[in-house]
Amino acid sequence: MATTNGAVENGQPDRKAPALPRPVRNLEVQFTKTLETMDTGKPFLHAFFIDLEGCIKTLRYFAGWADKIQGRTIPTDDNVVCFTRHEPIGVCGAITPWNFPLLMLVWKLAPALCCGNTVVLKPAEQTPLTALYLGSLIKEVGFPPGVVNIVPGFGPTVGAAISSHPHINKIAFTGSTEVGKLVKEAASHSNLKRVTLELGGKNPCIVCADADLSLAVECAHQGVFFNQGQCCTAASRVFVEEQVYDEFVRRSVEYAKKRPVGDPFDVRTEQGPQIDQKQFDKILDLIESGKKEGAKLECGGSAMEDRGLFIKPTVFSEVTDTMRIAKEEIFGPVQPILKFKNIEEVIKRANSLEYGLTAAVFTKNLDKALKLASALESGTVWINCYNAIYAQAPFGGFKMSGNGRELGEYALAEYTEVKTVTIKLDDKDS
Ligand code: NAP
Repeated sequence: MATTNGAVENGQPDRKAPALPRPVRNLEVQFTKTLETMDTGKPFLHAFFIDLEGCIKTLRYFAGWADKIQGRTIPTDDNVVCFTRHEPIGVCGAITPWNFPLLMLVWKLAPALCCGNTVVLKPAEQTPLTALYLGSLIKEVGFPPGVVNIVPGFGPTVGAAISSHPHINKIAFTGSTEVGKLVKEAASHSNLKRVTLELGGKNPCIVCADADLSLAVECAHQGVFFNQGQCCTAASRVFVEEQVYDEFVRRSVEYAKKRPVGDPFDVRTEQGPQIDQKQFDKILDLIESGKKEGAKLECGGSAMEDRGLFIKPTVFSEVTDTMRIAKEEIFGPVQPILKFKNIEEVIKRANSLEYGLTAAVFTKNLDKALKLASALESGTVWINCYNAIYAQAPFGGFKMSGNGRELGEYALAEYTEVKTVTIKLDDKDS
């Protein structure tokens, strides 16, 4: 997930976004973002400026590749012509989560189609509407029947059928590490289909004492609270150097207290409800564990009293590495802030978990930035920005955060087979 290859400058949603959405280009755009908000509870403006724009940019980017997927001519020491062809894999399965329903779908559909494949897609059970609507548009524009197949249903039935199907040659999955393992297992027990996995994260966000503190506070705040905290990229372990720790906590609490929580269709809202009762209960359980294990609750820490599945933006300070809120993916609006003393120590602590999706570093020192960028074990490292995701740049995880890459030129390799063709030339005339 991920998040923001839409209308995001410098890796951050524009906080000075107009009070009302800019004129929508057409009814389809209006309808799609409305559906996404209805289905997920994410703020209407985020659905438009981030999810939907991200989809459009991804589709445009991969559309540009469709006639540029080429093999190579390979010199040998024999009298042959040797070249490669990059061929479609065939039928590709796609299984998507509920936090970015349309964006995660497009991240799979666009590269699959531009490489000449067909797709069988299962959206998450909680959020199938935009996938179904996209299906109706695909029909309307005249895709041949069978090229894109959308099959809503439950994971253990429809998802498992796709993962284990003998005629599906590749599967792209975004979701939890737990289900990712099941998908890989089913793939290996069936036809050894190719598997790409985009899984969870417990992402370190490292704020050095020499950072632009206003920028770091703002980015760390958006990094963890964006999309109700339901992001695989969430900045859910914020390590702050001791000299600036107290000031960072003070400013982060100010931000969290001001975050507008409420009706996602109100354009002032930045945080809507959590996706469902199960996630809501899981987040509150983790908040309770933080209180019990001795973290200092700075603000929030409970559900909103007057409404449904809304949780107050929560900040914990004095968090230590062994607490559950510092180890487990919370997937909710909770910011755990930890303290560090020096770079060697923070590298070790940041790399200590089994996850390795993203990391962020805030510093004005280029040497320090580059040292951290090479030492951190994660698929993406953002320096002085957050959630800066682009259709052109690969995205994926180290360690148990996943296999393979989505987006960028790297994604094409996940949707093509390389064939080597060798032609023996006639030696007689030479
Ligand atoms: P999930 O439970 O793993 O579900 C993801 C998808 O897998 C859903 O469509 C689900 O179907 C399906 N599924 C469930 N069991 C399955 C099985 N046995 N075989 C095949 N498919 C199965 O995850 P989630 O709760 O939707 O999303 C939250 C998790 O996803 C978090 O851990 C988060 O970090 C991760 N995530 C990662 C990224 C990334 O880019 N790395 C992006 C977004 C989310 P149902 O419809 O039945 O649920």
